[in-house]
Amino acid sequence: MASRAVVIGPAAYATGSGIDSHPSIGESARMYGEVLAGDAMWGAESCRVLGHGEVQRADGVMRALQEAADETEPEDIFLVVYVGHGQYWSDLPGAQVHFSVGSSHKNEPWTWLSSWYVYRVMRRARAKLKVLIADCCYSNLLPQLGEEPVLPGVLGELDEGTCVFTAVKNANFASAEGCSALPGDLAGCTPFSGHLLRVLRDGTKDHEARLTIGLLREAVKQEMESCAAARHQVPRMSLNDARDGTPLFTNRMESTRRDRAPSLPVAPEDWVRTLMLDRDSRLEDLLRDERKTGDVVAILSSRTDDASRLLARHIDARANKRFSEPRAFARYWNQVEKALRV
Ligand SMILES: [Zn+2]
Repeated sequence: MASRAVVIGPAAYATGSGIDSHPSIGESARMYGEVLAGDAMWGAESCRVLGHGEVQRADGVMRALQEAADETEPEDIFLVVYVGHGQYWSDLPGAQVHFSVGSSHKNEPWTWLSSWYVYRVMRRARAKLKVLIADCCYSNLLPQLGEEPVLPGVLGELDEGTCVFTAVKNANFASAEGCSALPGDLAGCTPFSGHLLRVLRDGTKDHEARLTIGLLREAVKQEMESCAAARHQVPRMSLNDARDGTPLFTNRMESTRRDRAPSLPVAPEDWVRTLMLDRDSRLEDLLRDERKTGDVVAILSSRTDDASRLLARHIDARANKRFSEPRAFARYWNQVEKALRV
């Protein structure tokens, strides 16, 4: 195993660059390193927080990313964390979100790092799960969630196993200073990273011993929605085809303080609700019952929203593979068809 995490957090910019320096960026990057080092699934040797010199130029960042990507194997996770400023120039050919590096200047696009380069390295890495956590302005323009995931600009698609989890920010970095509801060092991080790091460091009450990206998203969302100190913009996940079931962090809350494992859903509607939250962790249980699987796919197919339809397709693909025995497949398909005819 050679899972790799690279943390990029350029905190300081030249006077006259037009870009604000924020200690909270550097503090967030440092804390990602500390928290990942303390996670048994990662450890200090799997995680690298890029130094001041490395984040000065796109070249330094990309070399470090490429090196880490090259070390990953097909069973691994490749995690990239970016904390900093984002910028988006719609008048550039193949417009992309650009990430700031230490030498960036506000109105000089060529001094920034195009997110295209970051995706390219991620796409080509051999790791089975690739995750980008982006805490920057314009991160809302990073890959959009949809039936056909659309990236602004030249990169038409993300490959299977890639996932983007972002803070929602529009134009400015007004909330760069920390959230006062967070304890200790986390209060010095940006609000999104601070809340996310608290979930990673202290765990969540969910009964699972390890966190998938879906569970992490839910926990961070809940934290930020119920934060007493501020009304945060709630993060979003542009999730493409990441295998949701792959855990990537340890749930560090003691098991006695966590909720008890819920019993399996019974009614098809309950299954739909459960799978919408986390599409893979209980899917195996559903697939033991061909008829019920059919009922669930039928409900999802009758809905008009993208997320339901994507999930229907996902389950249907798994069902087609699983129910290779003709009678089993007929039991499944009868239920789907019955509902589609109505
Ligand atoms: Zn907060």
